[in-house]
Amino acid sequence: MLKRHRKINASLKAFRRMTTSKEVTVLGAGAIGVCVALYLQRDGFTVTLIDRDEPASGCSFGNAGLIQCASVVPVATPGIVRQVPRMLLDKSQPLFIQWRYLPSLSPYLLRFLGEARDNRVAANARALASIVPDSYEAYRPLIAAAGIEEMVKPSGELHVFETDAAFRDAQANFEMRRAHGVPVDTLDADAVRQLEPSLARSVRHGLFLPSCYQTANPFRFIDALARHFIAQGGTFLKREVRDLSLEADGTVAIATDAGHLSAETVVLAFGAFSKPFAAQLGIQVPLNSERGYHVQLPEPGVTLNRTVISGEHRFAMSPIDGKVRIVGTAELAKVGAPTNYQRAKRLIPLAQHLLPGLDASGGQEWMGHRPSTPDSLPVLGRSARHPNVYFAFGHNHSGLTLGGMTGRLMADLVAGRPASVDLAPFDPARFQG
Ligand SMILES: Cc1cc2nc3c(=O)[nH]c(=O)nc-3n(C[C@H](O)[C@H](O)[C@H](O)COP(=O)(O)OP(=O)(O)OC[C@H]3O[C@@H](n4cnc5c(N)ncnc54)[C@H](O)[C@@H]3O)c2cc1C
Repeated sequence: MLKRHRKINASLKAFRRMTTSKEVTVLGAGAIGVCVALYLQRDGFTVTLIDRDEPASGCSFGNAGLIQCASVVPVATPGIVRQVPRMLLDKSQPLFIQWRYLPSLSPYLLRFLGEARDNRVAANARALASIVPDSYEAYRPLIAAAGIEEMVKPSGELHVFETDAAFRDAQANFEMRRAHGVPVDTLDADAVRQLEPSLARSVRHGLFLPSCYQTANPFRFIDALARHFIAQGGTFLKREVRDLSLEADGTVAIATDAGHLSAETVVLAFGAFSKPFAAQLGIQVPLNSERGYHVQLPEPGVTLNRTVISGEHRFAMSPIDGKVRIVGTAELAKVGAPTNYQRAKRLIPLAQHLLPGLDASGGQEWMGHRPSTPDSLPVLGRSARHPNVYFAFGHNHSGLTLGGMTGRLMADLVAGRPASVDLAPFDPARFQG
């Protein structure tokens, strides 16, 4: 009887805390965590942001810098599935699976194959289309408040094709975008070169996505937002989180490399590293690291006005602070697997072919862990079992794009407002059972 009474008391305390708490701890200071922290701060919450590193040092550091308001096509499609045997055997493929990790990748891969069925592709594209096209609009108030308008420009995103076959093969993907209201312009060779005069004469076709935005440098962009968060009174703690556990009174105990902390409300935003912590908070997610690489050329000798993506080889070339960043590959391996910078170096001759005169000397390589889910959808929502625990991770190829939108949606949830979109497709519990 006494035990039951204590349990009820603890639940009541937890409920009261949940309805009155104005303190939130955001775990992870990548694009997602920083934007969640900022949106919560704008709502009047007292926010603590925790990361083992400086803000934007993870995957958000070295991406292509695009706010891709046109990215409504999931990765798992019937076309990708046909390529799986080649991915396993040919290291030069843009998508590559390391054999030795196949057993541990199997749960993710089996679900990934299931998501490539037509009805699932359609549902996942619909879900992406509910959040992606407005992603720049969701950033707009954060950018204005931080006074960093000059860091983002409406550049569009240019896909180029040297062969008629690759151009033909790309049509289904771009038709899916059009079907969701995304503007797509078809360009001939002359129109492509007007946009990007440095491109090789071998380019025959282009598909231009005018709704996309380019950041000057994704690290500087997120770092500036993090600085604004701190300047507005937010707390940033540089701590490595080792363990999370739920206390009987509903608080979350956070074990770190510098002692224990207690949080009333927690948002988990550790990107590709979220899986074990999500499990500690009660949900199993087949989250995987999809490693991507870049090589940045300090004195490229050519100019790009926007990100250009090769339709044949599926890599991108982005203008980052006046330099050229060659970005690409998707390598499925475990988070701790050794880094293979050859995958970045292999992109250099492909880029030089498209950009004649590209000077590759002094290139610096980088690798980042994309937080990938089998359905290409982020994990967004409140824990069904613990009302003061929220999840915001798994943004796949679109974490920079979706930072502002995720921040806005999570602030709605934490503040108890109805979210502006249906969050059911992003339900953290969707992979259970
Ligand atoms: C090559 C490449 C190009 C890309 N291009 C684009 C693009 O142009 N546009 C786009 O929208 N997306 C792009 N992406 C994807 C995008 O970079 C990711 O989706 C995004 O960075 C994920 O953000 P995040 O905040 O979830 O994760 P992260 O940026 O990885 O942040 C997670 C944070 O959690 C911290 N953390 C993890 N574990 C712990 C712990 N135990 N204790 C304390 N801190 C911890 C990490 O230090 C890190 O700072 C690209 C990715 C790659 C690899």
